[in-house]
Amino acid sequence: MKATRTSGLVMLALAGILCFAAARDFRAMWARDRVFPAPGFRMEMLSKYLPSIKGTGVDTEVYVQEGPEKGGTVFVLGGTHPNEPAGYLSAVVMLENARVKRGRLIVVPFGNASGFTHNQPQEASPSRISFKLPDGSERSFRYGSRDVSPLIMWPVPDVYVHKASGQALSGNESRNLNRAYPGDPAGTPAERLAYAIMELLRRERVDLAFDLHEASPEYPVVDAIVAHEKSMEVAAGAAMDLKLSGIEMRLEPSPKKLRGLSHREWGDGTGAMPFLIEVANPSQGRLRGRTDERLVKTGLDKAYLKASGLGRLFVPYDSKGKPIEERVGRQLATVMSVVSAFSDFNSERGVVIEGVPAYEEMVSLGIGAFLKRQALN
Ligand SMILES: [Zn+2]
Repeated sequence: MKATRTSGLVMLALAGILCFAAARDFRAMWARDRVFPAPGFRMEMLSKYLPSIKGTGVDTEVYVQEGPEKGGTVFVLGGTHPNEPAGYLSAVVMLENARVKRGRLIVVPFGNASGFTHNQPQEASPSRISFKLPDGSERSFRYGSRDVSPLIMWPVPDVYVHKASGQALSGNESRNLNRAYPGDPAGTPAERLAYAIMELLRRERVDLAFDLHEASPEYPVVDAIVAHEKSMEVAAGAAMDLKLSGIEMRLEPSPKKLRGLSHREWGDGTGAMPFLIEVANPSQGRLRGRTDERLVKTGLDKAYLKASGLGRLFVPYDSKGKPIEERVGRQLATVMSVVSAFSDFNSERGVVIEGVPAYEEMVSLGIGAFLKRQALN
């Protein structure tokens, strides 16, 4: 009897320790990666545009910097898909380095915030990736899932019906922010998040809106700008400029009938010109081998070398791989070229942003050179 009571107490104590550890991990899982905005940015929350998401897992930080001279407004969304690191790292690099001289820059680095709290099931992806800074310290970032967390959005329906159009997609897409636009203020967490972003674009009178992504090299829309018809002229000007500086970016028209995507709905439902930027990343693809931090950072994979030799990829690919510096440099160069092409055509709404690293700088110095040092403690 005594032995039973003692072992019962021991079991209870062990269960208590386990609960404590689990609660600590659970809280850490929801903690956002820290960012260190450049001087001049102020922070607000996205729930300013839809109060019902305040305090929920989809609310996220919005950073705004206004230049001394009046002009237009540029919006940069990273982290729509938290398993596409060049997307959110480009937004973080802009946030930590930009100096706005004219107009306004709004950056949302972690668009699908709850997607950073979990991994995509069965993909065996790393949970973090880290970068060395010039002083020898490190910064690490989460590698998440493309979907809104199942903890706040579950179960998923068998068929996802896009409310505004009636378009039917696989049930999994109901948790994909980039199928949820224009959203619904009283809808699912993904639909509310999408609606809040649309509201931001409308209320802040955004001129240029960027959604930053990565995709597999065997997918035809990579190293590409996907442009709404009203963004096409500016996107074409930017693609030409990029080509002159040796950066090839395809131009893809946003399909009119594929609904729910940022490049379609932002353009149809707000005054902004949308641009979705897609860069090629082998750690996204189906041909890849082991998905570890090395693959995510170097983009170097044997199977992709073979596929490239067989002519099966849509981008040039060799033993240099697709390093993250190249992918982030390409994203940033594209954003900056679009901003300058737009400002050439629109003298009143022009925007001038300095301090964002050029493609060559990013490729030669690496991301760490453009990240702020993590404060001690
Ligand atoms: Zn994506």
